[in-house]
Amino acid sequence: MREYIHLAAAAAVVALLASCSPKVAVTAHRGYWNCEEAGYAENSIKSLELAQKNHLWGSEFDVHMTSDLVIVVHHDRDIKGVNIQTHDYADFKDYRLKNGEKLPTLDEYLTQGEKGGTVLVFELKSQIDKAHEDYMVDQSVEALKRHGLFDPKKVIFISFSWNICQRIAALCPGFTNQYLSGNKAPGEVLDGGVNGIDYHYSVFQKNPTWVKEAHDRKMSVNVWTVDNEDDIKEMIGQGVDCITTNEPLKVRKILGGKEKKY
Ligand code: MG
Repeated sequence: MREYIHLAAAAAVVALLASCSPKVAVTAHRGYWNCEEAGYAENSIKSLELAQKNHLWGSEFDVHMTSDLVIVVHHDRDIKGVNIQTHDYADFKDYRLKNGEKLPTLDEYLTQGEKGGTVLVFELKSQIDKAHEDYMVDQSVEALKRHGLFDPKKVIFISFSWNICQRIAALCPGFTNQYLSGNKAPGEVLDGGVNGIDYHYSVFQKNPTWVKEAHDRKMSVNVWTVDNEDDIKEMIGQGVDCITTNEPLKVRKILGGKEKKY
């Protein structure tokens, strides 16, 4: 009888821990980019739509700015050897993504974002100087407002540029604003006015106390770009809030009921 009571108590504790265990969000890296469904292309409008239809918590995308100050959704600075930052938007009018879409402007992309169902994880890429970076942040905020998306529940910001992170901190109080580079400890980031980190998983493997240090400071923790099953499980074990991945369906399967939905 006594043994039975012990077992029942242990089971209750396990059930309680499971119910208290925080859920983990999944974000598709550059959209839903390795998804095998038709119409795939990274940073495409179609890929964002796919993430929304699959009720992924987040869909990450990248922006650059052309020399005539049009903000476009694209990962690399160059398109077929042509630098986006030193050429006009018209120079890319014939360019097509793998799925046939033309190079999306931020406005075109946010028109799909308005349909909702997935947080927009908005990566602002480093620009040629501080003035261009500041202008890009200011115009991005205006675009989000035009589309009804200037809402901390609908958008979070990430950037490798410390200057961009600080500009966002000044203009977007209350929004999640994560630094990407991985070269600053959580306390240092927070002291700079930024409230979250989004580091490559190898950074957390080298600094296994950083997730807890960030959480102790009420900062959010995202991890990029983790695709291998053992690494995914290690990051879940470290307690990250969000996993950005090229393999969203694999992470979803590993998380099961622990997946945080939008
Ligand atoms: Mg990115």
